[in-house]
Amino acid sequence: MEIPFVDLRSQYLSIKSEIDDAIQQVIDQTAFIKGKFVDEFEAQFARAYGVKYCIGVANGTDAIFIVLKCLGIGPGDEVITVANSWISTSEAVSQTGATPVFVDIEPDYFTIDPALIEEKITPRTRAVLPVHLYGQAAQIDVIRALCEKRRLYLVEDCAQAHFASLEGKRVGTFGITGTFSFYPGKNLGAYGDAGAIITDSDDLAEKVRMFANHGQRKKHEHLMEGVNSRLDGLQAAILSAKLRHIGEWTERRQSNALQYDRELHRVKTVVSPGVRNSATHVYHLYVIRHRQRDALQKFLLSRGIHTAVHYPTPLPLLPAYQHLAYSASQIPVATEWQRQILSLPMYPELTTEQISYVAASIEEFDNHQ
Ligand SMILES: *Cc1c(COP(=O)(O)O)cnc(C)c1O
Repeated sequence: MEIPFVDLRSQYLSIKSEIDDAIQQVIDQTAFIKGKFVDEFEAQFARAYGVKYCIGVANGTDAIFIVLKCLGIGPGDEVITVANSWISTSEAVSQTGATPVFVDIEPDYFTIDPALIEEKITPRTRAVLPVHLYGQAAQIDVIRALCEKRRLYLVEDCAQAHFASLEGKRVGTFGITGTFSFYPGKNLGAYGDAGAIITDSDDLAEKVRMFANHGQRKKHEHLMEGVNSRLDGLQAAILSAKLRHIGEWTERRQSNALQYDRELHRVKTVVSPGVRNSATHVYHLYVIRHRQRDALQKFLLSRGIHTAVHYPTPLPLLPAYQHLAYSASQIPVATEWQRQILSLPMYPELTTEQISYVAASIEEFDNHQ
């Protein structure tokens, strides 16, 4: 049996006529940049989140960069973020001229450890940027309280957590703004690069909209210099079509995770991903821990099962951050877990047979040790 890590084609085939239709309409109306389809998607996404504004941008990295920039964050400032994430998170901080300050993760949930944030706050700190990693909320209620107490902006990186929630409240709505990626492999994925920003702040929404479109308030009225970071019509129309299915796809991810949990329970060397109390995990990734991760990954590949590691190196230990001079001892949990984590195939279209085959193969590996 061959099990790919993600399978975007089978999802396309399941809604082919809706997608083909959406694409054809954009072409028929030549609404390629901004225009009707972008407006529609922004309104739908804002409504789905119960927020005042959604502003589409070119990708999820830009979404973070643009909100930080529009919050006035720049050279000399510090933004506290997490050691285990995709580089976009910290890269966006550096793009503004500010410095990312990395914090270790909670052992059970892979997200930023709120207990370690306060000691990193300095007079230069302007914002906290937690990541709802793998599809699970960080301890965002606690982080929000801390940000309020210390008067820091809370910016949520929701690139992996579309429609995830904590105590019934969606992530992305706890702080001043939430940023999203619609990279094709994300839970809600476009057919190219795409991203969005949500907020209830009139002021931030207005700035973001201008900054992302060359600083224009209206055409040729440039109040400042900005960037060119726009959601395009084709991606917006595709996202609108897919948004109608996201609830059902998320449920399937969750039932797939339950099956993995159940079947891996009998494999004592596997640690299944923990779910935080009153969190709704949307399983962008299903990440287990295993002490012989590399050997397990190789074995699974020999059985046709494709897995991945998110991420092989904690951000502060990457060559890109050598100048910040972090050591592994400053982020002990992230460092240790990075050697053990393994992302198993996870997408709505996985079948129960495929999941059983993955679980049985892991058990087989274990029996051979
Ligand atoms: C995917 C991702 C982003 C942004 O991704 P783009 O590829 O720029 O859309 C940001 N943060 C995290 C944690 C991500 O996984």
